[in-house]
Amino acid sequence: MNSDETDKKNSESENRPENPLDELKKQLDGIFGGKNIKFEFAPGINPSQGENTAKDEDESEEVLERIRNFSMKPREIRDYLNRFVIKQDEAKKVLSVSICDHYNHVRRCLENPELKEAEYGKQNILILGPTGVGKTYLMRTIAKLIGVPFVKADATKFSETGYVGSDVEDLVRDLVKTANGNVDLAQYGIIYIDEIDKIAGRGDAVGRDVSGRGVQINLLKLMEESNVNVVSPQDMMGQMQLAMSARSGKKPKRTINTRHILFIVSGAFDKLGENIAERMNKNRIGFSADASDYETDIDISDYLKYAETSDFIKYGFEAEFIGRLPVRVACEALKSDDLANILVSSEGSILRQYTDDFAGYGIDFSITPEAVRKIADLAHREKTGARGLMTVLERTLRNFKFELPSSGISRFELDTETVDNPKEALKKLLIENGDLRRDAMLADIDAFSASFEKSEGFKMNFDDGAKEALLERAIESDKSISSLCAELFKDYKHGLAIVSRNTGKKSFSLSAAAVKNPDKFISDMVVESVKK
Ligand code: ADP
Repeated sequence: MNSDETDKKNSESENRPENPLDELKKQLDGIFGGKNIKFEFAPGINPSQGENTAKDEDESEEVLERIRNFSMKPREIRDYLNRFVIKQDEAKKVLSVSICDHYNHVRRCLENPELKEAEYGKQNILILGPTGVGKTYLMRTIAKLIGVPFVKADATKFSETGYVGSDVEDLVRDLVKTANGNVDLAQYGIIYIDEIDKIAGRGDAVGRDVSGRGVQINLLKLMEESNVNVVSPQDMMGQMQLAMSARSGKKPKRTINTRHILFIVSGAFDKLGENIAERMNKNRIGFSADASDYETDIDISDYLKYAETSDFIKYGFEAEFIGRLPVRVACEALKSDDLANILVSSEGSILRQYTDDFAGYGIDFSITPEAVRKIADLAHREKTGARGLMTVLERTLRNFKFELPSSGISRFELDTETVDNPKEALKKLLIENGDLRRDAMLADIDAFSASFEKSEGFKMNFDDGAKEALLERAIESDKSISSLCAELFKDYKHGLAIVSRNTGKKSFSLSAAAVKNPDKFISDMVVESVKK
């Protein structure tokens, strides 16, 4: 945009009459501002005309166009998932098929509105499996591929009435937020609800029965089809905005229809695995046996793939609720080998993040195959799936991320010794590369001098003695050269200006004395310049 256009745009925005909602917000902020109350526009009804909104609208329109022309095949989705998610082959297949079926149906409904009325069982999905094995990751990756908004929440935060916890309908409103207020797009989004096993109102459970059942019923309505108010009835501010926007002639959509929103629910279902193991073993040998008597190397979660509708009902789910989740798939527990594989081959691997983070400081980071194995083994012991990788890597590399950027080191290989004893390994690395650190610090001194000259117009020439003294003080005080120099020479801007005025000089030599006692050094310089 050239400057004429910019000016035109600015003057347009100045001349634009105040949006009544902005005006309302301003007034309410004025009344309540001092009381720490902040007003935000409800999603979907803020007609502010900023540039961002226009850009968001373009993007949303693009996604809507993609949905109208949806033509992906299950294999394409599976192949895309393979780039990020390791293992979970069955889940990948099942999800790819359901997603294609779902969006194909959406496309057909958009092409032919009559079809809406036809009976169609939505492919809402139930994903079972232990924590950290990629359940959410699979769905997030799919949502990203298609471009539809995605929200995730834990079932435990909902209460039946919404007065105590959140209301399940809030999830739908969150979709609108994620879709930057675009209600049309939100209607094709994906809602992911984790910890669904915690709202199973089991006969023997105390306290949760009623509310768990209530939440199931509420969810059931959403999963079927219902119209959710874009603005919650409890949201006074939102209601006022609605009224105002109606006055201003705008007609934002007031409700979101959930017909085409895809619901995914998931949970670890620990106990269910045990129940199924028990059922299966009982059938197999004809009498009750402890699951652990059988196939002891099998993870109890491996039994989840054999779950039947009756198992869920026995577990405490309403039959209608479980009936609305026709697609069920279990994700497998991740073994140590899988974790190693995630580290080295997933495009979303946490290791890539570390590599990028170090590269940001010009450090070439690598890892030995033995260290990959070791990290995977340690992570496996955490029993949190792939999340264990993050824990172990963070623990191992925390201090390296702090120290290496200022060490002058440009290459760092993570080996098993480092994983075993990160502190010792770091110390050794820093000592071995002491010269590099020294060079890096010397470069920092030059950088300080250059930036001082740029901002103040005076050159500070540190002689060798001054440089040595600076290095010593920086190491002793554990400070960076830049913060040490800023602290020591904070008065030099004024001091050198006086000296320059008196002597006409713009370039000054500084010795070790300037580092040892900077105030005395500059005042001596000033006194000397006056004499001259
Ligand atoms: P959950 O199964 O509890 O939903 P997530 O999908 O949220 O677990 O996994 C947490 C993180 O661990 C993901 O963001 C991803 O980085 C990593 N991860 C988990 N499982 C896998 C997997 N199978 N392949 C690659 N990365 C994974």
